[in-house]
Amino acid sequence: MASFQDLLKKTKSEISEISGEELQKKLESGDKLILVDVREKEEQEQGNIPQAHLIPRGILELKIEDIVPIRDQEIVLYCAGGTRSALAANALKDLGYNRVHSLIGGYNQWAKEKRATEKKVFLNSEQFERYSRHILMPEVKEEGQVKLLQSKVFLVGAGGLGSPTAYYLAAAGVGTLGIIDDDVVDRSNLQRQILHNESRVGEPKVESAKETLKALNPDVNIITYREKLSSENVMDIIKDYDVIVNGCDNFPTRYLINDACVFLKKPLVDASIFRFEGQVTVHMPFQGPCYRCLYPEPPPPEMAPSCQEAGVFGVLPGIIGCTQGIEVLKILLEIGQPLVGRLLVFDTLKMKIREMKIRQDPNCPVCGQDPSIKELIDYEGFCRLAGGDR
Ligand SMILES: [Zn+2]
Repeated sequence: MASFQDLLKKTKSEISEISGEELQKKLESGDKLILVDVREKEEQEQGNIPQAHLIPRGILELKIEDIVPIRDQEIVLYCAGGTRSALAANALKDLGYNRVHSLIGGYNQWAKEKRATEKKVFLNSEQFERYSRHILMPEVKEEGQVKLLQSKVFLVGAGGLGSPTAYYLAAAGVGTLGIIDDDVVDRSNLQRQILHNESRVGEPKVESAKETLKALNPDVNIITYREKLSSENVMDIIKDYDVIVNGCDNFPTRYLINDACVFLKKPLVDASIFRFEGQVTVHMPFQGPCYRCLYPEPPPPEMAPSCQEAGVFGVLPGIIGCTQGIEVLKILLEIGQPLVGRLLVFDTLKMKIREMKIRQDPNCPVCGQDPSIKELIDYEGFCRLAGGDR
């Protein structure tokens, strides 16, 4: 009868082993090699080799084909000391993988040799449960969820558009939501602004929003700004956020946010609603058009009635705000095709959605080749002059 030592000796003679030095060379040379950490989760939490896929030994055979569909892909496995990874390399050989190596001395030796390590953030058990439908998706997984929890999104307005966007982003586990709004809840808001309710009429919108969002997901950090966005505060406020979402309905703010996002190179998920119609697009600075590429100047007042005058159909802000929310998640996770250079127009009466191509203007006053606007201007004055301030 063979002992474990015999088995290990036999296994090691049948597989390929590489040293830390060889692995480091391979990683540095940009070889397309797949590195797999086969230790248990508690061990992985203490640190891992950068770029490693974390797949505990027990589920390696189950998961490996998802990550490595091609059998002659070069793979390096490591465990703590080089034993489990040797046995694992043998198992992968049986599955048909023909370029598998086991790291001699494992993670412990690697760390002792002072080679690069990193510490990944993991979800706790409650988060695992809360975000399980995300984690199930290969496009998100635990890694994507951690990324969302570490992300910061800034919402302009806690009204018709900001309500559904913030509600769903909080539910999806975007870790920090900044919300600016200087208004208080009015009964006429409640027909569409679902973050607020009857008992909060007269309360600041940002406080009402925070209460609703915290009740839904206590994980999310809500930062409130009960003020008006202006040339004085915008750069300082938005500089630390990853994505900016516009849910405001006046022209000075729209131009202000656009210019600030171009200057700071922040993705801006923009939308507008009018009666039965809504529009959504993503302004990715210097990769697609900005708002000024489309509208260098505000329209004359008779062309631009506000919600207050023209009315807005219930549910419509929900559709448009949720579309903004989806775009935010895609940008944060770097998946799919964001609405860059495309304007979606929803006509809810006919229930038709049109997509219009929109182009970057090389002569755009803010993101063009020779921009005339290089710093924030007086937006109230600019819109008054153009006659668009409503
Ligand atoms: Zn532009």
